[in-house]
Parts: sequence; C-alpha cells; structure tokens
Amino acid sequence: MADTTLLKAAILVVSDTASKDPSTDKVGDALTNVFSTAGSNTWDQPIIKIVPDDVLEIQRAICGWTDGPDWVNFICVSGGTGFASKDITPEAVSPLIHRHASGLVHGMLAASLKVTPFAMMSRPVAGVRDKTLIVTLPGSPKGAKENLEAIIKLLPHACSQAAGANSRALHAGGIKKLEADAGVSSSSSPPQPASHAHHHHHHHDHSHGHSHGHAIPRAHTNPSERPQSNDPNAGPNRRYRESPYPMLSVDEALKLISEHTPEPNIIEAPVTTAIVGSVVAEDIYAAEAVPAYRASIVDGYAVIAPETPNSGPNTRGIFPVASITHANEGGTLTPLEPGTIARITTGAPLPPNANAVVMVEDTVLASSTPDGLEEATVEILTSEIQPGENVREPGSDVALGSLILRQGDLITSVGGEIGLLAATGTRTVKIYQKPRVGVLSTGDELVEHNDPRKLTGGQIRDSNRLSLLSCLTSWGFPTVDLGIARDTPAGELEQHLRDALRGVGTAQHSVDVIITTGGVSMGELDLLKPTIERSLGGTIHFGRVSMKPGKPTTFATVPFKPSSSGAAQQGQQQERHNKLIFALPGNPASALVTLNLFVLPSLHKLMGMGRRQGAGSVAPVPSPSSLGLPLVSVTLAHPFPADPKRTDYHRAVVTASRSDGRLYATSTGVEGVGQRSSRVGSLASANALVVVRPGRGKVDEGALVEALMLGSVVAGV
Ligand code: AMP
Ligand code: MG
Repeated sequence: MADTTLLKAAILVVSDTASKDPSTDKVGDALTNVFSTAGSNTWDQPIIKIVPDDVLEIQRAICGWTDGPDWVNFICVSGGTGFASKDITPEAVSPLIHRHASGLVHGMLAASLKVTPFAMMSRPVAGVRDKTLIVTLPGSPKGAKENLEAIIKLLPHACSQAAGANSRALHAGGIKKLEADAGVSSSSSPPQPASHAHHHHHHHDHSHGHSHGHAIPRAHTNPSERPQSNDPNAGPNRRYRESPYPMLSVDEALKLISEHTPEPNIIEAPVTTAIVGSVVAEDIYAAEAVPAYRASIVDGYAVIAPETPNSGPNTRGIFPVASITHANEGGTLTPLEPGTIARITTGAPLPPNANAVVMVEDTVLASSTPDGLEEATVEILTSEIQPGENVREPGSDVALGSLILRQGDLITSVGGEIGLLAATGTRTVKIYQKPRVGVLSTGDELVEHNDPRKLTGGQIRDSNRLSLLSCLTSWGFPTVDLGIARDTPAGELEQHLRDALRGVGTAQHSVDVIITTGGVSMGELDLLKPTIERSLGGTIHFGRVSMKPGKPTTFATVPFKPSSSGAAQQGQQQERHNKLIFALPGNPASALVTLNLFVLPSLHKLMGMGRRQGAGSVAPVPSPSSLGLPLVSVTLAHPFPADPKRTDYHRAVVTASRSDGRLYATSTGVEGVGQRSSRVGSLASANALVVVRPGRGKVDEGALVEALMLGSVVAGV
C-alpha cells in the first residue's frame, strides 16, 4: 500500500525511438533520480510511460493521470518541445491545461539559460489540469534533469494548491517562512511570487461529497482571473477535440438522474385550486361524513314507511302535507307526525321520524289550501315504499373517518380528488412540494425574442427560453425566468447560476432545478461543464448521451447550503440541499426533446409522483415507468430513417385511427432538413417522439415501435 502522504508524480517520455525500444530511454531514470535526491522525501516512486511523438497518445496518457480517480499530483512530459516539425508536445499539452503557470516556464528557462543559450530553442509549457500540475521538459536527459531541479523545491506547494488546499493556511508563516521551508530564497528562486513549499501536501477534506480520495478543489481566485474551459484566447485549434465524458445510453442517463434527484419535500397546504396537480404526501381520512344528515335523493314526500308490510299503516292513501323542507335547511326540523307527510326537495334533510321518500311522480294532488296556492293533501299512489327508500343515510357517500385519499395520489384537474377534500371539510393537506425550475439561456449570439431591433451578423432570437418555460408551466411547475447569460465576459454564467441558486440578482426566487440551454457542445465557448465543476464545486454525472438529438446533454448536482436565516424564516419554501442542473443542448429541437426525456422524470420524482405501487403498498422509490412521458406502441405510417449508432427520438404526429383503432405515427419531416436538431419547427406540430433504435438504413412502414407521448393523440379517420 502506497504512503498516501507522499506526492504522486508521473513521467511521460515522448520519443519515437524510445517508444520502439524502451531500453534506449535515459530520461526516466534521470528524472526518477531527481525526485528521490532533490525531492526532500516528499515524492512517491514516479510512474514512467513512454509514447511516440503523437498528439493523441500524449493527450491520452496525460488525461489518464489527471481525469480519473487515480490522478497524480505532478506530470512532467519530456521531449518534443523543440522546433523540429515532429516536435508537437507543447501543442498536445497546451489544450489540456485549464490554468497556465507561466511562472514555472520562466523559472525553467531562466535556469537553462544560465547553462546554455540553446535554452531559447525550447518551447516549454506548464499549468494545471484539474488538480494536477503539468510541465514539459527538454528531451535530453541532462536538460530534463536541470529543468526539473530548477523547480522541484517549489512543486510540493504548487501541487497542494492545485489540489485545492487552503491557501490561507499555507501562507500563514509568510513568504519568508515558506521560502525557508523550501530551501530557496527570493534572490535564488525564479521570479514567481507564490514560490514556497510546505509539508502538508495532501489536504484531506471530505466536507462535500466528492468521490476522489484526494483534496477537494476549492476556488481561491476570481472566476474572471482564470480560464475555466477551453481557453478562448488559445484559439479553436487548441480546444479539446473530443469530449472527455463517457457516452452513456439513455437508460443509464435516466438511472443516474433518478439516483441523484433528491427525495421530495413535504409541505402543508390549504385546500384550494392551487394544490391541483400536486401529489398527496399522507393518507387522508374524512373529517366529516358525507352526507352529514339523512338526505332525500329525489323530489317528493317524506313518509313514515312500515318496517315490514304489516307492521304499520300503509303509505298508500291521502295525507296532509305537514311541512316543507328544502335543500338549504340549516335549522332544526319539526318531527313528522304519523299520518302526515312532508314535502321535500332533492338533497334536503328528512324530518325526524320520516324514514323514506316517495317520489313526486308516484303522487297526485288531492286538495289545495283555501287560497288555492298550496298543497293541502296529497295522494300517494303506491304501497310499496320501503324504509330507507330514496334516502341517503349519513356517511353513506363518505363515512366519517374513512380513507379518502392515499399517499401518492395525484390531485387531478379532473376534480374528483379536490372535490372529496372539499366535501369532507378538509382544510389543509400535506402534499409534496413542487420543485421550482429556473430556465437560463446561454450564448453571445442570443437576442431577446421581442427585441424590436433587426438582427445583425450571427444574432439569433432566444427561442429556447420561451419554449422551455411554456412547457414547464403547462406541466404545472413554478418557473423562474433566469434570462440570458453571455459567454463573455468570463464569470457571467457563474454569476447567473449562483443568483439562481440563491434567489438573488436576476433571479426572483431561488430554484431547485436549473435548466440551461447552449454552451455544452464542443466549441471553445462552451462553458457550462467547467463552470459547474470548477466554479460551483458541482458534480457532473454525465456529459454525453448516445441519442439524437441531444448528444451533449449534461446533468449535474451542486451542493447548496441554505442561508441560515432564509430557510427557516421563509417557512413554506423549504430549501433542498442538492440542487440539480440540466445543461441541455442549444439547438431548439434538442433542447425540447431532452427537456421531455430527461428533465420531466426528475421533476416528477421531485414532486412525489410514482410513489405508490399497485393497491395498498407504498413504494419506497418511484417506479420509473410512472415518471416522465407516457410510453405507447405505435405503427409507422411510412419508413423512418435509423441512425447507425444513436437512438433517434424522431418528432412525429401520432393519430388514433377510427377505422382500426390503432395509433399511427407520421414524421414531422424526414426529408432534407426535416429532423435537423436546429429545426425548432420539427416540434411545432409533433405530439410524440418515436423511439427509433440504432440500426442500418430505416425502420419499415407498418413496424410497431415505441413512442413517448408529448401531447394528446390526434383523432384520425
Ligand atoms: P451551443 O451549444 O451554445 O453551441 O448552441 C448550439 C446551437 O443552438 C447554436 O446554433 C446556438 O445558436 C443555438 N442556440 C443556443 N441557445 C439558443 C436559444 N436560447 N434559442 C435558440 N437557439 C439557441
Ligand atoms: Mg453557445
């Protein structure tokens, strides 16, 4: 087991010759020696790897030591830094660097220049990727050794800062003390202000659930001071050319989303139409019986019917109408005397003693009052009235204390559930709080959709924000319009995201879920992933999905500490501790498809949907099929093209045929630009996403495939 207090170093030897015959390499040993002799016992035995002068091989080796859980503190890359045409090491290393360290470059050049003016012929680069410091060294064993010696005393401090150690603590003794610790002085050390070492190289800190066993990255500088992503100044030839995120299947992505979506919050809400669309968080029992009294089901006459045919006077005959009761009766009622009847309307309470109601159809008027305005006597034409006939007993609709709604029930807009709550006098209910969702557009090219000015140059109207906000509103989620974050200046995106999490600045409310569009492709201004990871300390759970459209869809969580006063005082709006960021692609069709496919199931889980499984049992976790869009089987009305590798979510219109009862899918456009991800119109009339599994060529007309329903089925012919 390696000593975890030692710093880990890796040596990458770049040489066509040595890669063919490793025995010719002298650099590996020379540098290993420097670590063990000049390294003040702070270094573990370095890892050595030899690659040819090949950009991809160099990059792959470096990323293997920086991006995974087994990252090292320091990488020195030897060779390929000269002016010969095959010298491409600086070109391979530069784009991998997140933060450049020109001080180290100066230091190494200054040291070499003391030895030879040919030092000017070397093109070193140095900088930090993630938590790892990377420098390039000359290819000659002597030059490599001298350069490493020039900086090795400073490396422990640089590495520990790069790994995110607390700079305050490191600087506590002042520069002089640090210089003394490192065995260097201002006059002899390279001109680099933060040149000091310390012995606390591995700063272990597990305060926010980062999976690495190493130090936690924590920002020490202003976002504007450090390039976070592909350095825009480095030009497009220096950006990553392939996403470092693994390509996940849609199902894997959905699983991760489900795993990282927090459990729903429970709140108590008054029974108003505002709770329609919410899920009930507790079993609810009737606080009142319905009806609360014995009520008539018909318009007619309340009578005293004999318990058995011969146990009392027959109901047939002529009876005086003793009283009248209407449905609005609130006071006490006069008991019905035997031998009399009481006129009664539907829903009205029966007078005491009455036990049945004869419907008006079974009666005729016998005599009127002297003024001719009222009934005096009425003849009942039937003798078959049973006790209880046409009477709703108290609690016969809803018994007092009976279960009216169960945990996990949705209060639908159909009205049945809220009706039950209202009928039983339920004043408040515990429901799952709906997540509040913020929508942010990103990009320098975006113009407000209603800006009256004419578009110029590469400007486009921001359509995504409106589309997404509409969709979310129609699903019943409270939304916050987070506006547009420009790609430049650096830091604007971070500020917008922070404001949204806190509910300050441009955001009127703090949100539980942020949805962004744009900035996740492979362009040099695609800032979402680096901003989430580096500036917000978030975790990206996936950054690529094997689907079409929507490949760069990114899902992340950010730890969020509620402000101590805020959460408690706001009462209702409880704060969650992990907030979700869905960074969706900028192309309008991609953004809408991925909103439906990935965001909706997460929002459903957050609002407590799918927490019931079958009758009676409460599922601890929602069953995935109950979340997100409904999945149906459809018949293709014509051939649909398939992508050889990725699952295609093909925008289509699903029609219910009246002749054969089947659902038929027709594409919103297969030819030319039809399904292009930038084509917002491909969704304009679509009510479904037809799932076309990867394959060669096409899926035939008549094939039965799955479709996710975005809207209601269209009636066909
Ligand atoms: P990006 O991922 O930022 O490179 O964006 C991909 C494409 O989507 C570009 O053509 C953008 O102009 C476009 N796009 C980005 N955001 C929006 C938006 N809010 N509305 C419409 N189109 C957008
Ligand atoms: Mg963009």
